[in-house]
Formats: sequence, structure tokens, C-alpha cells
Amino acid sequence: MSEHTPASDPLVDGPHDPEHDPRASYALEPDYVAGLTRRILSTTGRTVPVESPLGGQPLAHIPQSSTDDVAEAYVRARRAQAAWARTSLDERAAMLLRLHDLVLDRQDEIIDLVVLESGKARKHAFDEPLHIALTARYYGRTAHQHLDTERKLGVVPGLTRVEVNRVPKGVVGIISPWNYPFTMALCDGIPALLAGNAVVAKPDAQTMLSALLGAQLLEEAGFPPDLWQVVAGPGRELGTPIIDGADYICFTGSTATGRLIAAQCAERLIGCSLELGGKNPLLVLRDADLEKAAEGAVRASFSNAGQLCVSMERMFVADQVYDRFVERFVARTEAMTLGASLEWGVDMGSLVSQAQLDTVQAHVDDAVAKGARVLAGGRARPDLGPYFFEPTILEGVTPDMTCFGTETFGPVISLYRFHDEADAVARANAGEYGLNASIYTQDGARGREIARQVKCGTVNINEAFGATFASIDSPMGGMRESGMGRRQGSEGIHRYTESQSVATQRLIRFAPMLGMSDERYAKVMTAQLRMMKKLGRA
Ligand code: NAD
Repeated sequence: MSEHTPASDPLVDGPHDPEHDPRASYALEPDYVAGLTRRILSTTGRTVPVESPLGGQPLAHIPQSSTDDVAEAYVRARRAQAAWARTSLDERAAMLLRLHDLVLDRQDEIIDLVVLESGKARKHAFDEPLHIALTARYYGRTAHQHLDTERKLGVVPGLTRVEVNRVPKGVVGIISPWNYPFTMALCDGIPALLAGNAVVAKPDAQTMLSALLGAQLLEEAGFPPDLWQVVAGPGRELGTPIIDGADYICFTGSTATGRLIAAQCAERLIGCSLELGGKNPLLVLRDADLEKAAEGAVRASFSNAGQLCVSMERMFVADQVYDRFVERFVARTEAMTLGASLEWGVDMGSLVSQAQLDTVQAHVDDAVAKGARVLAGGRARPDLGPYFFEPTILEGVTPDMTCFGTETFGPVISLYRFHDEADAVARANAGEYGLNASIYTQDGARGREIARQVKCGTVNINEAFGATFASIDSPMGGMRESGMGRRQGSEGIHRYTESQSVATQRLIRFAPMLGMSDERYAKVMTAQLRMMKKLGRA
């Protein structure tokens, strides 16, 4: 999926200057915008205008960073990291707990900005401060569990003392997308900072302000300002310098871009975690509570207008309940309210850009042209805003249609019947993605058994995606082409550390002693190995 970059020429007039941009209105106060954009490391004098997808109001002119600016961001981040690595874990954890409070106290401000930049409904924007508060609290409270030096078994009991330290990688480059602009900008950086790293962040061009507000809140929570550098510009230009300067890369975005990033990281022999796309399946088993399943299916398919990596695009429904489920799902979908609004009470907002609208429209047109039936939605809604598209349910989707196996990343779900559960699992596992799945059943044990057969990094039983996504203690990420590595839990923080083993040897050494021959030494060691096994030693 291509990045949304505004079509008009870059302006050189600084943020939101009505003298140079007659369209400039006051969706946001210019001083407020300037307070955010000054955090971007930019010496180019170039800016790019950004408009709200809600109604096209100009939001800001975003200063653009050059390759040299990225290099300078790494210089500053490295300097800050050296001092930061010497701070105590308790100090860092306390800052995260302050961030938790700040995010909850300032949630209206965060949500307003997210809605204006992304066009999503307010209730979907609320998920962003919610997720960051959960992440900050979780890592703030479990810091020692993940990062304290650990004792390990030494080879000679009592005489070899072994400890494993968690050493910060250094500076982490974070490249994040537009779909959850506040969450995605911050959630992977929180464990990186806690582990003693600095961050150079490159958020998506469309949604810089939400990401910059995140940077501001980190500073207000007590994190040193230079520890979190922000650069702005097209990924295809800044991606390489970001990878070149980093000790580790955390990327969230499309599988196509993830592949490019993995190749560049491999060249430098640095690690990376990749949170990528999906074509996520939802299974409704014959014993499912159909009201609950239909309610969950709406959230699963249409949260943030389907622009959510873990949302569902394929639904497999047991033959025995298919008609009753579909009737309920269609009714709930048709009852949804759509709108361009900063207020609560809207069920689904806008897509983020013309590029997103074009993809969604193309997938639906292609499916309909090849014989798919539209059970709900199916149309763009320019009457509501430039990029609105109705929540859409398709039936009769076949493998020759684009939306059968390609991620739409929009509010389009395809329904399929199944008779045999094994067949449903096989169809859910078809393709190369493996991000998230959902299973509706009243038999929890059966749901968990089926989950083990599904090739996805997360599986939610009787919930769409929130149960795994919000359980920060458990890892979240994709199998197969949906990613590498995991965010959240201990894996989500250990990726930012190097394990360092320190062994202190006492009394004996690992060589023949007291004139012993090599042959004699080998025999003594062999006897010792046999004894250790008998004693049950690992
Ligand atoms: P994208 O890959 O085009 O862009 C994501 C980020 O990568 C942006 O910041 C962009 O500027 C940058 N980028 C683009 N080209 C680059 C390059 N060559 N080198 C370095 N950086 C580059 O993705 P998108 O279309 O904007 O985002 C939607 C995709 O992200 C969907 O496929 C969705 O499933 C996925 N996503 C996944 C998760 C997850 O957690 N698995 C979360 C959100 C979105």
C-alpha cells in the first residue's frame, strides 16, 4: 500500500500560515501546531501541508527532514542514551506511570488530534490513549521482572556463578504507520526507553501531529527531550538513513515495505521486528451465541473503518447457523451511523486518504464485476466526506477476486459457509498471512483446541481482537508474512536488549590441573558428565 503524501507542492512558509495558504482555516490553533512541529528535527526549510480527511481543512505544514537531519538525530539520541543507560530502572518506570496518568488526563486532546488527522470515529480514537495507558502501566509495573539481572545454572555447581544482564541495544529506529497514529508511534517505544535505549522515530507523513503529541507527553512525563528524536519525510527517502543509523529497527506497516526493511537490516546485521499486514479470519462455530457473534463481527470488521491490522476481512460461518448469523450481522451493519465528527455517537468514520478509498473501491468493484453479492454497503459516501465508504458485507467471493486473498485494509468483509470445522480451519490458514484470528463458540475448550491449529500470532475466542491486543502481558505479532518478532510482554521488551552472560569461575579451571594429563582430564570430565546426568542436573 503506498504512503499518503499530499499532492500539492511543499510550502516554505512554516506551519499553518494563512498569508501563504488562503485555504488555511483554524481546525487547530497555529501556536498549538507550531508547538508540536518544532519537535521535528528539520533544517531543510521545506514543509509539506497536511489536511484532515474529515473535510479537507488544512491542519499543519510539516517541516521535512533530510538525510543529514536523520544523521544528526542519531548523534543527539546516542548522546542522550549514554546518560539514560545510567539511570535507575525505578526512575524510568516511575516516568512510565506518570505517562499513564498524563495520557488519561489529556485523552480529549489526544482523541481530537487523532480524529482530525485520521478521520476515524471518536470511539475508535479512544482506543489509542487506552492502549498507551495499558502499555505504560504494564511496563512500568513489570520493569524488574523483565530487566533485572538473572541468575542461571553454572556448569560446575557452586563454583561457576552465572548471571545474565539485559544490555540496551543503543538507539532504536521506529517507523510507524498512520492507522493508529498515537498508539503506533508510542507503544513500541515505551519498552525501548524502559530498557535503556533512545529512539529515532519516523511516523507516517499523514499523521505526524498525533505522534508529536506523544513525544511531548513523554517529555512531560520526565523523559529527557533528546532521548526521543522525531524526523519527518517520505519513508522511501528516510528509510535507508534510519536503518543505517540504528542498532535495531521496529517497523509497523505493509508486508511489502517490511520485506525491504528486513533486507536492509540483514545487510547491516542488525535485528528488526516487523508488524505487518493480514487477511484475518473469523470463525463462527455452530454452537456460537449468534447475537454476541454478530455484535463482535461488526467491531471485528469495521473498527476504524477496517484500517486495523488485526481486523477481520474473511468470515467463515457454520452452515447450520449461517442464515441466522448473516441476518443479525447485516441488520447490525445497516444500523451503523457514519459521520465526519469530533463528537461521540458515530459508529464509523472516514478512510484516511484518497489512496485508501481507491483501494477499497477497486476491491469491491472487482468482486461485484466477477459475481460477488453485496449484502450491505458497497458504496462510497462523498456526501459525508471525501473518503467515506460504507461498511460492506460481500457473499460469493471466489479466488479469482482480489479481495479473496489480498488485504483490503478497509471496511469490507467476505462471508463463506463451512460444513466441517477442519475445512474451515484449512481455509482460514490458506494464504501467506498469519496475524490475528477470532473464534466464536460457547465451548471455550473447543475454541482453544481449534486456536492451536490456526496459523496466526493471536487468536481471540468470543472477541474480535481486543482481548489479545489489550492483554499487554502476552506477545502480539504475526506468523508467516504478517511479521517477525513480537510487541508486548517480555518478548516486546527483550527485543531491545542484548543478553550478556557473565560467568565467574572459582577454585577450578577448565583445563588439566596439578600435572594431570589431557587424557586423564578427559576421563575425569567424562565421569563427571555421567554423574551429573544421574543427579538429574539440567
Ligand atoms: P507502509 O508500509 O506503506 O508505511 C508504513 C510506514 O513505513 C510509514 O511510516 C512509511 O512512511 C514508511 N515507509 C514506506 N516506505 C518505506 C521504505 N521504503 N523504507 C522505510 N520506510 C518506509 O504501510 P501503510 O500502507 O501506510 O500501512 C498500512 C499497512 O500496515 C497495512 O498492511 C496494515 O496491515 C499494516 N499494519 C500492521 C500493524 C501490525 O501491528 N501488524 C499495525 C498497523 C498497520
